[in-house]
This record gives sequence, C-alpha cells and structure tokens, in this order.
Amino acid sequence: MEKVVIIGSGPAGWTAALYTARAQLAPLVLTGRQPGGLLTTTTIVENFPGFPEGIDGYELMTRMQKQAERFGAKTSFGIVESADFTRRPFSLVVDGEKLAAQTVIIATGASHRHLGVPGEHELENKGVTYCATCDGALPGFRNQPLVVAGGGDSACEEALYLTRFGSEVFLVHRRDTLRASKIMAERTLGHPKIRPVWDSVVAEILNVTQDKVTGAKLKNLKTGAETVLPCAGVFIAIGHMPNTQIFKSQITTDENGFIVAGQGTTTNVPGVFVAGDCADHVYRQAITAAGSGCAAAIDAERFLTANP
Ligand code: NAP
Repeated sequence: MEKVVIIGSGPAGWTAALYTARAQLAPLVLTGRQPGGLLTTTTIVENFPGFPEGIDGYELMTRMQKQAERFGAKTSFGIVESADFTRRPFSLVVDGEKLAAQTVIIATGASHRHLGVPGEHELENKGVTYCATCDGALPGFRNQPLVVAGGGDSACEEALYLTRFGSEVFLVHRRDTLRASKIMAERTLGHPKIRPVWDSVVAEILNVTQDKVTGAKLKNLKTGAETVLPCAGVFIAIGHMPNTQIFKSQITTDENGFIVAGQGTTTNVPGVFVAGDCADHVYRQAITAAGSGCAAAIDAERFLTANP
C-alpha cells in the first residue's frame, strides 16, 4: 500500500515527489512512457528561474529526479493501464500489476497534437516528426529544405533549432501573426534561414508511395490556392493534448480533456489531486507545472493527515 502515487515524471510530478518525500510519505513516481516528460525533448530551457545561462531540458529533469530521490522518492518506469477511484484505497493497474494507493497525484502532462492530414501518419518517422531536438540532426534532413507547422513558441523553437541542419526552414502558420512570445517571434523572424509562410496550412504530406517525405502540399487559407513545397522533413508543432484518457470516466475534465481542478489541486474525487499540463491549458510552463506539483503535494499531505 502506497501513501502517495504520482503518475507522471515531468516538472509537476518530480516537484510533487520532492515535497511528499520531504514530508516522509515515500511517494512512488510512475514515470510513464516518456520519463522526464516533454521537457526532455527540449534543448535549452531559458525561463526556469535559477539558471541564468539556461539549462538543457533533459538535465533539468534528471536533476529534479535526483533531488526527489535524495529524500526518499521511489521511481518505477511503469505505465498506468487503468485506475479505479471509486473507493479508497484507490487501485491502479500498472503494467498488468495491481497497486493500492491512499492518495494519487495525476501529473500526466500532455502529448503532441497531430495535424490529421493525409500522409502524416503514414510518413511518421520517415520525415514527419513532432520533435526537432530528437530528430533534427538525422542525415536525411541535412542541407535540405524543412517545413515547420505552427506559430507558437514550440514552432519557433523547432524552426530555430532546425536552422543548424536544414538549408532553409519554412514556418507554415495559419494566420499572419505568430502566437509565440515576443522574444521568440523576433528571434525567429529575424533569422536569415527562416521563411514564414503566412495564412497557410499543411494540407497533405508527400509522398506516401515513395515511403518518405519529399514535400508538403500547402493551402493558403485566404486565397484557397494550393502549392507544393519540396522538403525532406515536416516538423509538426501545433500544441498539445492532455494525457487524461484513462481517467475520463471518473475524473471530471473539460471538453478538451483537461482535468478540472476544484479548490487548490483537488479533483472531483477526494484523495485524487492533479498537477501540471494535464489540468492547464492557460500557462503550460515548466515553472507553473512545478508550482502546481508543490501545491498538489501539500494538498495530498493534508488530506492524509485528515483522512489517515
Ligand atoms: P500553442 O502556444 O498552443 O501554439 C500552437 C500553434 O499551433 C498556434 O500558433 C496555433 O495557431 C497552431 N495550430 C494549432 N492547431 C493547428 C492546426 N490544426 N493546424 C495548424 N496550426 C495549428 O502551443 P506551443 O507552441 O506548443 O506552446 C505551448 C506552451 O508552451 C505555451 O504556453 C508556450 O509559451 C510554452 N512554450 C514555451 C517555450 C519557450 O518559452 N521557449 C517553448 C515551447 C513552448 P493559432 O496561433 O492560430 O491558434
């Protein structure tokens, strides 16, 4: 029987682990499919306080893990298959094994959103990717034109990173202004290798019959005109979807799947708390996720004191 099980190992999960470990609750962290979460796929994180020179995303997450483990957090590379929150202790099925928990902190984060266009699924890992940091340096992308879809901070970050490898980087955005923060937008639009393609979407990724990306069919949303842009890679950075599917029948979510928190980090089930991007469609920063992980840990600790 675990006192606290934390599902997820991003900034929210590890911060919740640090605080519950220091409260001597020996939390168990289930890392999920991507230990360290989405931040491990970023290069330099420049906006996490305390690192004036910036810090590599993977290193930041490794440090968070070490810090939580130093105080007694336990780590398991498990994936939660189902959860039963109908009575306490709660029951989780992790890689086929049952686990009992007095409290649960859901910190499952979010996953990359897909475009849903022809060719995207078929050519995934054959030129279509959701992570420039992971795949950008592959030989097939070197000195080739590359396409990034999206207009937020992620798309700008991907485009800037890809300038190291591609001959030029086309940033395809469905409007004519970027959603990205001012500093990222300025850096991106000021880069000599980045060419914005405004008011346009990727309508199809070519070429499924050749089993590799050879181009992107772009559609101008204002004129309806379609053009083919030859390229070796399409990097999709159009936001994220919360990883909450397995809790949906028991935990209240909004229409987009984000968990609806009540007072503090509470959910509709007493004893189940939520932290990080799976409940946040507004801020979505590493530091806000970490802050909510701290809050969830304090809420769980107080709940356990009141409901031993
Ligand atoms: P985001 O801010 O939600 O931006 C998503 C972008 O994709 C938007 O430009 C959106 O267009 C576009 N988009 C969405 N669905 C689309 C579709 N079906 N077809 C074409 N385009 C589509 O997501 P994000 O860039 O991943 O950023 C998420 C959060 O993480 C933000 O809070 C961001 O500030 C933060 N972040 C920060 C950094 C950094 O500071 N270095 C880096 C990465 C992420 P519209 O603009 O028209 O809606």
